[in-house]
Amino acid sequence: MRLEETIQREILEQRVGQELESLTQRLFGKSVEEASDKEVYVALLYLVKGLTDATVPNDGEKKVYYISAEFLIGKLLSNNLINLDIYDKVEAVLKSKGKELSRIEELEPEPSLGNGGLGRLAACFLDSIATLGLPGEGIGLNYHFGLFRQVFKDRRQSAEKNEWIEENSWLNRTDISFEVCFGEQKVVSRLYDIDVIGYENGVNKLRLFDIESVDESIVKEGIRFDKGDIAKNLTLFLYPDDSDEAGQLLRIYQQYFMVSNAAQLILLEMKEKQHDLRKMYEHAVIQINDTHPSLIIPELIRILVNDKAFTMEEAIRVVGKTCAYTNHTILAEALEKWPLSYLEKVVPQLVPIIQELSDRVAAKYSDPAVQIIDGDGRVCMAHMDIHYGFSVNGVAAIHTEILKNTELHAFYRIYPEKFNNKTNGITFRRWLLSCNRELAALIEEKIGNGYQRDAMELEKLLAFAGDREFLEKLEAVKMHKKKELAAYVREKEGIALCTDSVFDIQVKRLHEYKRQQMNALYIIHKYLEIKDGKKPARPITFLFGAKAAPAYVIAQDIIHLLLVLQEIVNHDPDVRDYMKVVMVENYNVSYAEKLIPACDISEQISLASKEASGTGNMKFMLNGAVTLGTSDGANVEIHELVGDDNIYIFGEKSEQVIGHYQKGDYVSKQYYKKSPVIRRAVDFIVGPVAGKAGHKENLERLHRELLEKDWFMTLLDLEDYIRTKDRMLADFEDREKWQKMMLVNIAKAGYFSSDRTIAEYNRDIWKL
Ligand SMILES: *Cc1c(COP(=O)(O)O)cnc(C)c1O
Repeated sequence: MRLEETIQREILEQRVGQELESLTQRLFGKSVEEASDKEVYVALLYLVKGLTDATVPNDGEKKVYYISAEFLIGKLLSNNLINLDIYDKVEAVLKSKGKELSRIEELEPEPSLGNGGLGRLAACFLDSIATLGLPGEGIGLNYHFGLFRQVFKDRRQSAEKNEWIEENSWLNRTDISFEVCFGEQKVVSRLYDIDVIGYENGVNKLRLFDIESVDESIVKEGIRFDKGDIAKNLTLFLYPDDSDEAGQLLRIYQQYFMVSNAAQLILLEMKEKQHDLRKMYEHAVIQINDTHPSLIIPELIRILVNDKAFTMEEAIRVVGKTCAYTNHTILAEALEKWPLSYLEKVVPQLVPIIQELSDRVAAKYSDPAVQIIDGDGRVCMAHMDIHYGFSVNGVAAIHTEILKNTELHAFYRIYPEKFNNKTNGITFRRWLLSCNRELAALIEEKIGNGYQRDAMELEKLLAFAGDREFLEKLEAVKMHKKKELAAYVREKEGIALCTDSVFDIQVKRLHEYKRQQMNALYIIHKYLEIKDGKKPARPITFLFGAKAAPAYVIAQDIIHLLLVLQEIVNHDPDVRDYMKVVMVENYNVSYAEKLIPACDISEQISLASKEASGTGNMKFMLNGAVTLGTSDGANVEIHELVGDDNIYIFGEKSEQVIGHYQKGDYVSKQYYKKSPVIRRAVDFIVGPVAGKAGHKENLERLHRELLEKDWFMTLLDLEDYIRTKDRMLADFEDREKWQKMMLVNIAKAGYFSSDRTIAEYNRDIWKL
């Protein structure tokens, strides 16, 4: 380090120290040493906010508005310190005063403003937009309790409210407020901002709308509340239980509240900057993240026609050149279709507009597959987005191909030019620099820190595939992270892990298409093998983390099965030294940051064609885990990048799976009858051992589902899965081979930086 740099650094360290000292004095009348960890946390919050205020906002002629019902941002302290480039300094200052930064980070509550991958993607995108210095902001809702907090009771999931807003938080109250009309009923919104700090770059905003009249006290036990009183409940929860009509209506209320505020905010900014509304698309681009914000299209058209003297043609043209849509799923049940009668109840003012948009499509195209209002009087939100937006993108190469060739083929024939692919990405600031500082430091030692700006530079690591010393260090980092995770799991779950075992991890939302149940059947198979005397070469630790939608019955049953297996396996004296099962409670971003760096085997085993992209797979790869996966989503691109020798792919391909659905020729019972291995594992679920640890009702229902329906074809790939996983476990014993696989996976992960994804969105869609 040059002398000047050393001096600069010392000055900064001193400044950070002085600032912190004066903050704890001013806030609590204490020195940093005297302050509690929580008080130091609050002081750090203000330190970051002060530095952010001094950072130049990213601005420009044109701006992207990324509208999303979810932003799963995770804790912000550590990331903000990293992006401001003061993490090490703060850590050093605190250490000199007897404080541990990592312990202080634990005290920050995690906002759970998202369900899973889709919301996490939006958060990674904001980080990359800010880092690339692009003008843009996220627009969403300020849910007071977010997604529920998961608690296990009697081996079942129960849902509790998830409080995260404290007196001192990252939220900044603004003086921006709008009126939103639901027919005759009027509510008043309030905008809160969270600063999004780019990595050594400017700052952008996440804008979260709330409602002034919200009343937290209406929440009774668990997450139950009166769904009828919109003014009190609108922003209490993310996606409240939508199994009944009141829940679905509430979702429409939330969606309209979000887009009405977004539209008013965008138009306000257009006015302030004196832009010509007729050229709105030269100054604004609206990215519609999945179908939840789709009502922005009719809402903008309504305002332009009613208040701004546009003709219908003009309004449709201008809005159509401003809005772009991202599709995240081909699961039919996840594509929103709202009955017109519901919309009539919630937002009657939009119904004539939607009707008009639908009539125009019907006049031009007779194909029922492309209509906006279907034969049952339901509005297909995705169809509205495709007809009246200028871009439609999928989120991984295979996903976009399936959209073009199968799911949205009728649209692709009409608008081939609108379709494009944007393979998802993850921010390396959070998923490497922050969650695995040891690995980041080791990489820097070898190839410098250029990779922190240009992730493709990670490929330089390939030159060290024969460097024994480096490979051993890589393994040492992995062991260190396994020990850290083991300590954490012991504290949180009360279960001791063997760090010499293989860590096999499947963490993601619980859904049948993701096939946690297939992994459970593998565990049963292994358990039975060990009982038969066939011991594995090395103990295996199976880790799960997953929340299930409260109304999704089979998902609850799968959670129950996993908790039952945890009970059986971990307490069986014949087995517990060879395998362990842990389902961690309340899987969230913070838990992901601890699990992923410690992983050996990354489970990405969705039924081919069903996982649009996945982003968990990318985080694991970046942290040196090896993927065990199907040819689905971004696994396909990971496979292409690392080659056959550095990934374990099994199962039927997406074309075959799509063929089964088209022909209706998958019958799970045939697989069950044909294979004694499958039969034995499946029947264990309703056998005496499981029956003693679990509930008959849940286990029998799951067993029946697997045999009589199995819509996501668990048994189709089970035998190949068992074979492939066993081969992988055998390869784990060849340490040199495994270390090289780790290295190749890290080296090839650069492509999955969300900086690359956002650069592509900007190049092809936003053009900022
Ligand atoms: C990345 C992430 C996900 C998405 O995981 P997938 O395996 O892609 O489904 C879900 N939840 C959390 C907390 C995450 O960090």
